[in-house]
Amino acid sequence: MANSVPSTDTPSLLARLDGVAAYDLVVVARRQLSPAVLELVCEGDLSGFTAIPGNDLMMAVPLEGSDGTFRRRYTIRRHLTDSNQIVFWIDTTADGPGSRWAKETPIGSTIEAIGPRGKVTLDELADWHLFVGDLSFLSAAYAMAEAIEPPGQALFVFEIDDPKDVVLPTLDDLIGVTFCVVERGGRSFDDATGLQASLDALEFPSDLGHVYIGGELSVVGSLHAALLERGLGKEQINAKPYWRLGVANMAHGEPKKVEVS
Ligand SMILES: Cc1cc2nc3c(=O)[nH]c(=O)nc-3n(C[C@H](O)[C@H](O)[C@H](O)COP(=O)(O)OP(=O)(O)OC[C@H]3O[C@@H](n4cnc5c(N)ncnc54)[C@H](O)[C@@H]3O)c2cc1C
Repeated sequence: MANSVPSTDTPSLLARLDGVAAYDLVVVARRQLSPAVLELVCEGDLSGFTAIPGNDLMMAVPLEGSDGTFRRRYTIRRHLTDSNQIVFWIDTTADGPGSRWAKETPIGSTIEAIGPRGKVTLDELADWHLFVGDLSFLSAAYAMAEAIEPPGQALFVFEIDDPKDVVLPTLDDLIGVTFCVVERGGRSFDDATGLQASLDALEFPSDLGHVYIGGELSVVGSLHAALLERGLGKEQINAKPYWRLGVANMAHGEPKKVEVS
């Protein structure tokens, strides 16, 4: 049952998911932030729409041969309420319909978005916040980090292939920042050893912290287990798989879990 996919047509999603609505968004701008990361700006009638940092939208990305109800989830990098715009940061390293839509959809095209979705948001009681993952997690990590009430502390450990992909967040001067970049150096995308070594070398601040992990399914699972072993409580960790190496995400946008036989 772990991998059964619920219906992804709009009426079924609206009936099944609490507190969401469907929005028709027009893609109004595309900007290449780095070799892998694209910024897409979408605009629409967002009256009644509210989201908190870390929330995402289920986008009905086009898929050849489908009825257009195939979903990919993208975190809201920014919600510009004055201009009714939503900004997404999309890692285009993937070779699937989501990545193709981000790279190729014409400016002026329309896409349906359902949301807000997502349970991983900033732990407002934490004294420090550590964000760990790959480029697909940049948008969520930065949206949450930029919501930290100053003074505060944000730590980032990100694995990248190309140093030019280090795109930085916009943080208040009163936020202490530690940024660790791990170069993948040819390791497989499901190899957690690079991020793990960086985490092992990182001294966590004192006081109460919260760790947010996002990225490839096995990497997320492995880092989560190691943090528990290091002594963090499970309530101090949010670990969210965004994709799985060699396996396309399912039609509702979640990665396929590993079947336990
Ligand atoms: C809650 C949630 C929020 C998300 N937010 C964001 C976001 O803000 N920005 C963002 O970029 N992504 C985000 N993702 C991931 C995104 O939804 C897609 O999984 C991703 O864009 C790949 O989709 P695709 O259709 O291109 O590839 P798929 O059809 O899922 O996969 C095709 C192939 O590409 C590979 N692949 C998938 N992703 C990657 C990758 N990152 N690097 C290398 N290979 C890959 C797969 O292993 C597969 O072999 C989020 C996922 C979830 C669940």
